[in-house]
Amino acid sequence: MTNPLLIDTPLPAFGQIRASHAEPAIRELLDRNRQEIAALLEAGEDRWETLVVPLERMHHNLARAWSPVGHLNGVMNDDELRAAYNACLPLLTAYHTELGQNERLCAAYQSVADREGPSLVPEQKKVVDNALRDFRLAGVSLPPDRKQRFREVMERLATVQAKFDENVLDATNAWSRHVTDEQELAGLPANALRRAREAAQAAGQDGWRLSLDAPTYQAVLTHAVSGPLRREFYEAWVTRASDRGPHAGQWDNGPLMAEILALRHEAAELVGFANFAESSLATKMARDPAEVIEFLQRLARVSRPAAEREYAELQAFAGRPLEAWDVAFYSERMRSERLQVSEEALRPYFPLPRVLAGLFTVVMRLYGVRIVANPSVEVYHPDVRYFDVLERDGTPRGGFFLDLYARPKKRGGAWMDQCVGRIELAGTGALPVAYLVCNFSPPAGEQPSLLTHYEVLTLFHEFGHGLHHLLTRVGCPSVAGINGVPWDAVELPSQFMENFAWRDEVLPLISAHVETGEALPHEMLVRLQASRTFQAGMQTVRQLEFALFDFRLHAEYVPGVPPRIAETLAEVREAVAVIRAPEFNRFPHSFQHVFSGGYAAGYYSYKWAEVLSADAFGAFEEHGVFDPATARRFLHAILERGGSRDAMEAFVEFRGREPAIEPLLRQMGLAA
Ligand SMILES: [Zn+2]
Repeated sequence: MTNPLLIDTPLPAFGQIRASHAEPAIRELLDRNRQEIAALLEAGEDRWETLVVPLERMHHNLARAWSPVGHLNGVMNDDELRAAYNACLPLLTAYHTELGQNERLCAAYQSVADREGPSLVPEQKKVVDNALRDFRLAGVSLPPDRKQRFREVMERLATVQAKFDENVLDATNAWSRHVTDEQELAGLPANALRRAREAAQAAGQDGWRLSLDAPTYQAVLTHAVSGPLRREFYEAWVTRASDRGPHAGQWDNGPLMAEILALRHEAAELVGFANFAESSLATKMARDPAEVIEFLQRLARVSRPAAEREYAELQAFAGRPLEAWDVAFYSERMRSERLQVSEEALRPYFPLPRVLAGLFTVVMRLYGVRIVANPSVEVYHPDVRYFDVLERDGTPRGGFFLDLYARPKKRGGAWMDQCVGRIELAGTGALPVAYLVCNFSPPAGEQPSLLTHYEVLTLFHEFGHGLHHLLTRVGCPSVAGINGVPWDAVELPSQFMENFAWRDEVLPLISAHVETGEALPHEMLVRLQASRTFQAGMQTVRQLEFALFDFRLHAEYVPGVPPRIAETLAEVREAVAVIRAPEFNRFPHSFQHVFSGGYAAGYYSYKWAEVLSADAFGAFEEHGVFDPATARRFLHAILERGGSRDAMEAFVEFRGREPAIEPLLRQMGLAA
């Protein structure tokens, strides 16, 4: 029987894919690729058509076979899949490093650049330039023993980072709180209570069972009147996978973090950088570590005084000094009292089907594409739906799987991932397909999932990433969609999209009361908009705390001595934070963005790209949020272009100048 991961269908055959297919498929593809590459080098025809095109096609096919495995491991995790996924990781890492260190292949790309350079179109030139850069970053010119060591380091890193993720997931799943006295749950929103009730029933318990998934955690911290209950949740959350808290030492990521930092530093040094922060910037828009630190400090200078004022005001409101687990609770009370806005009161106005329909209308009006549910596509879980993206005339442009509800064994948070990348090269063609994943509260009986406005923003955000992937016109997979886009520019389309969910022109499209069908009343809308800058200083310093911690941790690493994780965090908090974290707080132990995700020495990218996105949205504020000419320029310069062009050049083409920080400060109410 054919391995379903290897059959050439436009979409993954989820109904047939089993964990046992992963490793054989990946082994076979890697073997085939190795043979094909050897044959190409043997033939010695180092031309765009005969060398680069086949390699782009190989990348595409491999990514496509691997994508369902990686995705299912994230959203339908079980022991078998986890083992299969983990068995493939070192194979893939070894392959990529081997490719990156292949001197003959590097020389072949170099001769394409030398011989055909002037006749390549910009997209092709970018593919070749990126490849040559990546050869350098993989240590192509190192002596054999150091090359070998680099390979070992990369393979070990992949394994350790995956283990870091597993520990977080296991620690999160292991904890729950059983409640039998309803009094203890005072303040919790109805949907959180209902889910807790159902979870208890499913576990054969009476009362309520509160798990540590993100929506429940947020609900407890924001709404539970009981301080002790909030504290318990807070402690369980911030000690996950650490040496403290209810499962102290059981999934402790501490040793893994030290190893991850050491390996990253070693890899960076091997290929000629002073530290991992420097090597991280080799593929980003920011030029050097000093520029990143100066950027973050500039934001800190503006936002910290505001954050201090806001925090003093909050403590005055609460009438006492606050603990870390009190902040969200009193902030929500203060927000609803002063601004008359409460996330829970907004929920009935944002039933998911309405929000989605409105979002699709926004996309249609901006970019002229239609989004239509396609129930005939096979999905991997009953909660998941598939949508086609079509041109106005019905020509297919791509599609996406929408997986929006929290459930056990699904990684927390929200993200967009590539299922199939776009390719259009010498006879090979595929349309882009995305996964859009969130963790919203599922529907309750007949009632659809009701979103907070914050969750609406999350959906718009991920959809922005999705559009970047889906609307690309680039045919070379390595620079199509989000591929090849510098990490600190990749949040531009996503954060840009969030702006629409705050606008007068858009809110009536995405809101309709779940019972009355009434759009968000105008006075609520005005109050909601006024709340956008609520605690903007506190929110900014929190992001700056993460960003500075991450960047300094990698920039200041000293080999041979234990990493200064807790110390660096303490120094950064001293410099920028206003909320005092308790001694037992071990948030780095579950900081997946930095320790296992792609944001290592790159968490600053969120703020960096927010400057770009606020400034880009400024053009829409100047000309009208649905202005066709502005939208068309954004579509052509940014969304369709993907990574085929320098990020700064693309921005300048759209905005007519380099990005400015002022629009972001204005947006946050922090402008002088
Ligand atoms: Zn994002």
